[in-house]
Amino acid sequence: MLSVHEAIRIICEQTPTLPAEKIPLTEARGRVLAEDIIADTDLPPFDRALMDGYAVRAADTQNAPVRLRIVGEAAAGSGWRGTLDAGEAVRIMTGAPVPAGADSVQQIERTREGENGETIEIERATSPAQFIASRASEITSGSIVLRRGETTNAAMTAALASFGYANVSVGARPRATILATGSELVPVEETPGADKIRDSNSPSLAAYAELAGARVRRLPFAIDDPALLQKKIEESLQHTDVLVLSGGVSMGAYDFTKTALREIGAEIFFEQVSLRPGKPTVFARLGRTLIFGLPGNPVSVSVTFNLFARTALRRMQGANDPMLAEERAVLAHEVKGAVERTSYLPAQLRTDDEGRLLAEPLRWGGSSDLTAFARTTALIIVPQDVKTLAEKTVVRIVRLPG
Ligand code: AMP
Ligand code: MG
Repeated sequence: MLSVHEAIRIICEQTPTLPAEKIPLTEARGRVLAEDIIADTDLPPFDRALMDGYAVRAADTQNAPVRLRIVGEAAAGSGWRGTLDAGEAVRIMTGAPVPAGADSVQQIERTREGENGETIEIERATSPAQFIASRASEITSGSIVLRRGETTNAAMTAALASFGYANVSVGARPRATILATGSELVPVEETPGADKIRDSNSPSLAAYAELAGARVRRLPFAIDDPALLQKKIEESLQHTDVLVLSGGVSMGAYDFTKTALREIGAEIFFEQVSLRPGKPTVFARLGRTLIFGLPGNPVSVSVTFNLFARTALRRMQGANDPMLAEERAVLAHEVKGAVERTSYLPAQLRTDDEGRLLAEPLRWGGSSDLTAFARTTALIIVPQDVKTLAEKTVVRIVRLPG
């Protein structure tokens, strides 16, 4: 059976990168950069005061306390244009350019103004460069600040703004269409009648797809009828980059998704992955649209979406890290593996008193246990054919987006 990593490799091979688009900086958070971000100025652009106080020559202050003559003022946004001579000081504010001739700043708390306001007593000696951020000490004009393929976050927004990126080039958001299947489903608004359940996959897939950066369209679910399902899938393929189906991919008498995909001429790349939960995952393509047929169990849906469909959606945007990143954590309780399948077991992360990251496997009743899954923040990876992993083992985990 295909391993998770082979499956992801096949998906990546079939996934095109969408064209870039320019968007306003205010909308850029969470988007994937389609251009390197280059500093268009030195930062700081001038020697900048880090404190309110007095710009002085350190040599003048070595026998502090010393009295210096105030010859001017430098404020943020308007510096003092002269050159400081021996025995002189310039009143300076945080963010103002340090005047020529000065090599240090003494903070106002360590000074005392003379009675006429014309002199200042520096109470303690300064050292050269004290309280000055020197020009280009953060970055030199022309350097790369952020790289194409990185996903922007709020912290990066300030850097983009500093270098004049009022508009920024990012990967276009892929269009994802969500179609749940199953004759047992009723919409969330309804109370399920006999033998029915609410459709939880459509809303949860929509949430995950949005987290993956997609523009999401949710369709009313389809019932398990081969002809109707085929028609619905064909309609769903219009104007979409990724179609995510849930349900109907197992071996049951009413599992029609694969048949429908074959009937409409989609190329099926795989229909099983050695994964628990999520073995009967289907990946196909028709024209330029990628199709994921995910097993209907709500937990399987969340795991397989985030391993497979998310990777495709992120890659379409040009992300250099499209897959969920693996990390390490310490197992809080023993877990069991599966024969011939890699397990991705729902877990909650927490930190213990020593600061170690612990993965607490959730007690769950199998791949349909939504209530336990609601507290999941990560998945513990148990390699295939490993019988058990003991408490305190260092394991690989992935964090679940959320
Ligand atoms: P299937 O993959 O169609 O065999 O479905 C597997 C299990 O998941 C069954 O118990 C279904 O009732 C359940 N299931 C399928 N689709 C959904 C859905 N959209 N929301 C909640 N449960 C579902
Ligand atoms: Mg079904």
